[in-house]
Amino acid sequence: MELSQEHRMLQDMVRQFVAAEVEPVAAQLDEEEKFPAEILQKMSELGLLGIPFPEEYGGAGMDTTAFAIAVEEVARSCASTAITLCAHISLGAYPIYTFGNEEQKNKYLPGLCSGEFLGAFGLTEPDAGSDAGGIKTRAERKNGNWVIDGRKVFITNGGKSKVIITSARSNPQAPKHKSLSTFLVENSNPGFKLGKTEKKLGLRGSNTQELIYENCEVTPDALLGAEGDGFKQAVTTLDEGRIGIGALALGIAQGAYDRAREYAKQRIQFGKPIAKHQAIQFKLADMATEIEAARLLVYQAAWLKDHQKPFIKQSAMCKLYASEAAMRVTNAAIQIHGGYGFIKDYPVERYYRDAKLMTIGEGTSEIQRLVIARQILQE
Ligand SMILES: Cc1cc2nc3c(=O)[nH]c(=O)nc-3n(C[C@H](O)[C@H](O)[C@H](O)COP(=O)(O)OP(=O)(O)OC[C@H]3O[C@@H](n4cnc5c(N)ncnc54)[C@H](O)[C@@H]3O)c2cc1C
Repeated sequence: MELSQEHRMLQDMVRQFVAAEVEPVAAQLDEEEKFPAEILQKMSELGLLGIPFPEEYGGAGMDTTAFAIAVEEVARSCASTAITLCAHISLGAYPIYTFGNEEQKNKYLPGLCSGEFLGAFGLTEPDAGSDAGGIKTRAERKNGNWVIDGRKVFITNGGKSKVIITSARSNPQAPKHKSLSTFLVENSNPGFKLGKTEKKLGLRGSNTQELIYENCEVTPDALLGAEGDGFKQAVTTLDEGRIGIGALALGIAQGAYDRAREYAKQRIQFGKPIAKHQAIQFKLADMATEIEAARLLVYQAAWLKDHQKPFIKQSAMCKLYASEAAMRVTNAAIQIHGGYGFIKDYPVERYYRDAKLMTIGEGTSEIQRLVIARQILQE
């Protein structure tokens, strides 16, 4: 697939940056569960934290394809850094750009795009994951303000963000999907506090946070878009965000494949490199084929979005396929490394652990299949 000159230049730039700044510390971030704050700072200097947003709000004025390319390149070395970037852009900043009024955009987007602060998206709750319509966090009107009470779990960047896009039930009497509203809650807001920081199988350098809202009072200008639009806004955000997860899964798969291919050329068994054994060649061929297919799906979804065409089916397909391909590819990468793949001296075990979240976050594989089925049955 031919990238435009602008996209190729971005890809080269991010690739060089990742080789110099991300790759050398990726294993350490994972091992020490260290948040990539310094890397984010350097990325912000390159304009990567506001890639798809217009320059008037401090963004780089590029598009979704550029966003996908950057996420993929970072994920080839460090999925923890990539998900931090991805969530910041597609879950933290995107809803403000898409649903916010001018005042809200001017208040938050320049800081989000410059990396002055990060953003997060608080939808999931202990009893509401796939069924986001079931959230229990309440927003009640009080003296002209909104008072939010509830708890969010598993929020990426939740403990590192200034602004948290928070879904809450503002009208329990309304039908389930019309009863939610979205609020821009700042971390300094009285009544907002951090719960536990999760320890994870993978993406250990990223921040996954419980958030607690106790009598958390926000002014009316914290309401994002119209009251009652929260469910629709969350679904739209996730439709778009899945392109980012697809790109992330693609990058993980590519990174694991690159390492497996190199290893196969060097490892000698039975008097020749294992890459000369047909069983290993077939694995590499399957991996390369799945990566190409995933890339086409990811870029197609991004292209459709960039050209204002329907993309819901394709974003779910790219997320579903790329994440499941990443599981197969990282598994094969370990197999190609044999015992060395299982130990931490080689990075493929990290890729395998990191890949798993891709089949869960922003809608599980099962939910993607439901989204795709709904779309294709309407056609
Ligand atoms: C590291 C990490 C980061 C995350 N980041 C964020 C974030 O930034 N913001 C945020 O809001 N959330 C975030 N999440 C939450 C994530 O989106 C949810 O975990 C995910 O949507 C699944 O919800 P759940 O965990 O409650 O699982 P459940 O919904 O309880 O699902 C359990 C199982 O049941 C299946 N299932 C459920 N319903 C159906 C159905 N109708 N048909 C078939 N199968 C079904 C699921 O596919 C799954 O296999 C994150 C999670 C993790 C682990």
